Amino acid sequence: MHTAQLIVIVLTAAGLAWDAWLSRRSERQFHRPLPPAVADVYDRDRYADFRAYHAEHERLSRASALAGVAITLAALVAPYFKWMDQALGARPYALAFWSYALIWVVKTTAETIFSYYDVFVIEARYGQNRRTRRAFAKDTALDAAESLAVGGGGLMFTTWLLSRLSAWTGGGLSAGRAVLAAGIVAAILFAGMLAAAGLELFVLTRQYRLTPLPEGPLRDQIMALQAGVKRPITRILVYNESAKSTRKNAFMFRFFGFKAFGIADNFLSGNSERELLAVLSHEIGHLKHKRTLANFVPAILAAAGVLLLALCCARPGLPRAFDFWARRCYGLAHTNLMLDFALIKLVASPAAAALSVWHNFRSRREEKEADMEAVGNGYGAELIATFKRLSRDQLVDVNPDPTVEALTYDHPGMAARIAYIEKAMADQADHLGQKINPKSMPSNKNKNPRANRRLFKSVQSF
Ligand SMILES: [Zn+2]
Repeated sequence: MHTAQLIVIVLTAAGLAWDAWLSRRSERQFHRPLPPAVADVYDRDRYADFRAYHAEHERLSRASALAGVAITLAALVAPYFKWMDQALGARPYALAFWSYALIWVVKTTAETIFSYYDVFVIEARYGQNRRTRRAFAKDTALDAAESLAVGGGGLMFTTWLLSRLSAWTGGGLSAGRAVLAAGIVAAILFAGMLAAAGLELFVLTRQYRLTPLPEGPLRDQIMALQAGVKRPITRILVYNESAKSTRKNAFMFRFFGFKAFGIADNFLSGNSERELLAVLSHEIGHLKHKRTLANFVPAILAAAGVLLLALCCARPGLPRAFDFWARRCYGLAHTNLMLDFALIKLVASPAAAALSVWHNFRSRREEKEADMEAVGNGYGAELIATFKRLSRDQLVDVNPDPTVEALTYDHPGMAARIAYIEKAMADQADHLGQKINPKSMPSNKNKNPRANRRLFKSVQSF
């Protein structure tokens, strides 16, 4: 056993233990009574459904996690890469591609089986599925083609780049030229990411039918909600979620300059207009708030990536040393980029997990800010009603374990969320009550919606 395989086993085991710890906490939480904010979401029968549904999901996710571990271990501990090295070693493109493609086939097959079971057994049993097998096959094929194109294409490009890089840099570049070279590579990668995102958008338009919301009072009200927004969103699209599931969703889609509201047709048919406006108020809240530090994380990571790349251009010995170490651990005669990337990804996984905890924290805070926009517009009650109905319909876990929520939720859990909206509404009522009394509140300033928003900002910081 070499160091690389040992690291793989230790990190994989740590990941499994982490998941098991989280799922045990969730398990225990299910037996606790619901707090007042969400006590009326489920009646006794529906709550029994919820528990059974989540128990089945838990079993499925445990099985799928184990399958994932088995695939990782089979690739990174069994002599998979050695076989590939012996069969294809002299041909770098074939070696990288087939090393990737075989794992991709096994992974995609396993994922498809789990997802099929999820949709047609679990979701169907609890009345959550409407997809036909044909539509499922089409969506799965499109997703698979997209992941193969992005993953395989990226790997081929990197293979080409690295084979050229040593010729371009010779024994290493001066600092200035190294940064320039890294900048050019980063720009190419960025263009590739743009293309991948465009591809994702294209796949989405193949999976759903989008129709613009017709002119009329509803559209006018949505535009009126965006009064304070610099560049309001005019693309308001309804998508046919009813063909796939009972899910009701309304969201904002942002892709660089392109912005759109997406509204599930289920939402329009099953909820009141005020409920839709409540949800869109929330989305507009996201639009109004200034970008926070968290939004710069991708930029910071990209900058770090460019610097790392520049370091590799200036000192080509560094990546070569890593590659040499990996090859020695696996007994390979040739560089296998797929192996190098798999090892880097695994070694970086604890840092990625820590970053995601921080990202979740920031994200929950932004969600709260957006909720406060809806409360400020007078849609607090409708927002709560929508959350409760969605939770009941979709068997949402309304009272997640606080630790699990803090670590893994990018939206606040329903119990906490409804509680703070209720509190903000109560504060708003108090505030309006004070305003009527001229002695305590002589100025009329708080009619100004900006002042109101500041009030909610102070509420949400706790
Ligand atoms: Zn949101």
